[in-house]
Amino acid sequence: MDAEIIAVGSELLTPYRQDTNSLFLTDKLNSLGIEVRFKTIVGDDSERLTQAFRAALGRSRLIILTGGLGPTEDDVNRQVVAEALGRPLREVPEIRRRIEARFARLGRTMAENNLRQTLVPEGADWLENKNGTAPGLWIEKDGTAIILLPGPPCELEAMFESVCLPRLARLVPPQCLRNRVYKAVGLAESEVDQRIAPIYKNYANPATTILATPDAIEVHLRARAPSEAEADALLDELGDKIEAALGDYLFSSGGESLEEMVGMYLVLRRKTLAVAESCTGGLLAERLTRVPGSSNYFLGSAVCYSNELKTRLAGVPQKLIEEQGAVSNPVAQALAEGIRRRTGASMGIGITGIAGPGGGTAEKPVGLVFIALADERSTQVREFRFPGDRQRIRHWATQAALEIIRRRIRD
Ligand code: AMP
Ligand code: MG
Repeated sequence: MDAEIIAVGSELLTPYRQDTNSLFLTDKLNSLGIEVRFKTIVGDDSERLTQAFRAALGRSRLIILTGGLGPTEDDVNRQVVAEALGRPLREVPEIRRRIEARFARLGRTMAENNLRQTLVPEGADWLENKNGTAPGLWIEKDGTAIILLPGPPCELEAMFESVCLPRLARLVPPQCLRNRVYKAVGLAESEVDQRIAPIYKNYANPATTILATPDAIEVHLRARAPSEAEADALLDELGDKIEAALGDYLFSSGGESLEEMVGMYLVLRRKTLAVAESCTGGLLAERLTRVPGSSNYFLGSAVCYSNELKTRLAGVPQKLIEEQGAVSNPVAQALAEGIRRRTGASMGIGITGIAGPGGGTAEKPVGLVFIALADERSTQVREFRFPGDRQRIRHWATQAALEIIRRRIRD
């Protein structure tokens, strides 16, 4: 069974409020093996809501509407759905008693417009709201289930979990949805797709999505099966092939970040790391220390932005900077070797580059970054030309540095 969600509320079409209810609902529906195929956000407007609802009726077997059940004029869901389905609204005395009792408990009298909430389309079930006045509605028509839920998240969540989930579970065959995330670095999104599309195209289940994030190219697999074990077996079959196709560009298959994997390898090899950062200004240290327990392998970072501090903190000869320029291959090498020597770390990283927007020349353009890694064997220096603005260049530099460390210690 596939589902469709319509979030109703004019505030959700402004920059100030987000539709979070559909995220909660999607998560819960997925746990039953139900996937969400469409989401619509529509304002408090009868005509536009009617359009959205009619479109949903034509294509989805489960439609969930959220919000728009309040007592005020702008809450139109109940009327719109009743009208579109040709089911007249009837007052349910039991709802009225409950709303009145709720007001009495709070020491208030019920306003007349609350009576709107006692109306239920013919043939519909109403769903008790433990955290508010507006009851939910459950309507079935021609094999389609339509659920109306109140907008406030605490009301919606309690109602959905206590009443709707068990009822939906009886409607759908037992199904399980399982996800797996593979992460690659060092390849562009299109290169990842070129390698794995010929493989995943042959599988409808698991479904495959490729996602480019600043920290990795992610390959998301999503399998559905009657049991967790069967879903995992499907993930294993396709996953093994994807792993083979991505080779050593793949750095994690369990959702771990690049900095976590680097940390794991450093612990495994009993190595320590220290960093001398110029153009990244401490960003690499920030990423490394996101990982809990990083104090076991990361000694620290010297942010040596000025030439003077490159000499004082990492022992880069002043003459070298004068002759080669601060952004140069030999200075990166001296930063890496110097910070390693001064801290006693098994590995030293040196980063120097031009993040822009100013400061570039024809010879040394914005985006030029040198990254060096020094360890007990040798020092390697790599030169990069990163695209983008200052923020992106600095991020790419940390990404490349982590990847250089990963490749050096992995084997
Ligand atoms: P309503 O039932 O439409 O009167 O909604 C009541 C309140 O619930 C709204 O003012 C919002 O703060 C909140 N709300 C409504 N819809 C959503 C949604 N899709 N996601 C998160 N909050 C919502
Ligand atoms: Mg509303």
